Amino acid sequence: MYQLSEIKNLSVLNNQEIVRVRGRVFSKKDCGKVLFLILRDGIDTLQAVALKNKEGAPLPIDDYNVLRKVENESFIEIVGKIYGPEKPVLACSQKCIELEIVSYTILSRSVLDLPITLKEAAITEEQKHDNPLLPSIQYFKRLDNRVLDLRTDLSQAIFRMNDGLLFYFQKYLRKNKFVEIKTPKLIGGASEGGADVFKVDYFGKPACLAQSPQLYKQMAIIGDFKRVFEIGPVFRAENSNTNRHLTEFVGVDLEMVIDKTYMEVVHLLYNMFIYVFDQLSSAYKAELEIVRSFFDLPQLTLAPKLVVVEFSEAIDLLRANGSKMGDLDDFSTEDEKLLGSIVKEKYETDLYVVTKYPSSVRPFYTMPDLKDTRYSNSYDFMLRGEEILSGAQRVHDHTMLAERVAELGIDATAIRHYLDAFKYGAPPHAGAGIGLERILRYFLGFPDIRYCNLFPHDPKRLYP
Ligand code: ATP
Repeated sequence: MYQLSEIKNLSVLNNQEIVRVRGRVFSKKDCGKVLFLILRDGIDTLQAVALKNKEGAPLPIDDYNVLRKVENESFIEIVGKIYGPEKPVLACSQKCIELEIVSYTILSRSVLDLPITLKEAAITEEQKHDNPLLPSIQYFKRLDNRVLDLRTDLSQAIFRMNDGLLFYFQKYLRKNKFVEIKTPKLIGGASEGGADVFKVDYFGKPACLAQSPQLYKQMAIIGDFKRVFEIGPVFRAENSNTNRHLTEFVGVDLEMVIDKTYMEVVHLLYNMFIYVFDQLSSAYKAELEIVRSFFDLPQLTLAPKLVVVEFSEAIDLLRANGSKMGDLDDFSTEDEKLLGSIVKEKYETDLYVVTKYPSSVRPFYTMPDLKDTRYSNSYDFMLRGEEILSGAQRVHDHTMLAERVAELGIDATAIRHYLDAFKYGAPPHAGAGIGLERILRYFLGFPDIRYCNLFPHDPKRLYP
């Protein structure tokens, strides 16, 4: 038996070799005497050719007739001889080679009636623009049939980059001495004392799905891990039907002991983003090309060094441009977007950080600015005018924390293990929570966050 080859690894160097390849039947064209079949493996495609009734043709006529009728998307294996076609095969990623079919095995048949066809799903915006009569599939229909949608070049490219994103975050954080932790997702009480939690029944006792690893990652710091990070699911029972909210997303969370100021974390985070974006841009050129063929991606502009906008400066900028925000209000989505365009014009960057948010709009564990406690030692990173990260220095003094909890009327019993941990001494620390899908979405410039989650769940979608 011939060794199994991957389509992407074949080239003209394999000319006249017999190879065994697997993939899905992407399309077929039966021209009477010759059958052209495009075999697809992920984003790689190869044209396989069978000749009918020709003397010396390797494929028996009965086999030819079965293959001609095999349903698109069936998973098949072909043994064939590689050769160079007269003209390049423009429809395939393998343009300079073809495969003469010697034999084949149908490993798993697809049904004939597909809810979405991969050919339709492969039509790019540009092609639709040139020919408005081309069919288009509603995005929600794609999500309803996600397994098929995942087979498209676009989804293949997105989730390979998603994998790259995870890899480079981990690589950067480990290099900077962070220890990866996994914290409970099924917890007693609400993770941040908030209301937006999914409640579950824990053997008759109330429990919920973690809204963030916030309290546990701080407890790991008090447990004397100086730098920790976690990549894991985050659950939000917010009824937010927007293009940037999911009810379950992937959080990249980190927490670290600081020396003098929380700005140490801000700079580390900025360097991490620059590293990750550089790596993605150079390691995923083919995938970026695919995404660009579907969406008109605006180039990401990054300033040579970190741009920091203090909250009060942001308010001035917004007011100068028509916003009616009060001094201590939080940004609305529109304010955030407007600020993004003002900062882009002023500082020529799509990535920047806003610091010193009002204490009143941040969670109870946020360290106030001790020079003016109306404000806090907090920060949000913005990418293309939308929030991708939220973080702050945390209160590490037990008395101060207990006072904040009491002031805000938070149920201390539900978080007593967290509060008690501070009684045993906690180092000054700060951290951040990042939404993985948001990074990918704004890095690529997608119109909707759902593109970037494998099986997106939102208030209206719990299946698949
Ligand atoms: P927003 O104001 O955008 O709803 P948030 O203030 O609730 O976000 P945090 O709770 O601070 O956000 O979460 C940290 C990060 O997690 C955010 O900066 C964002 O990248 C991401 N994130 C938050 N909520 C969601 C969500 N519902 N879906 C996807 N990502 C989210």
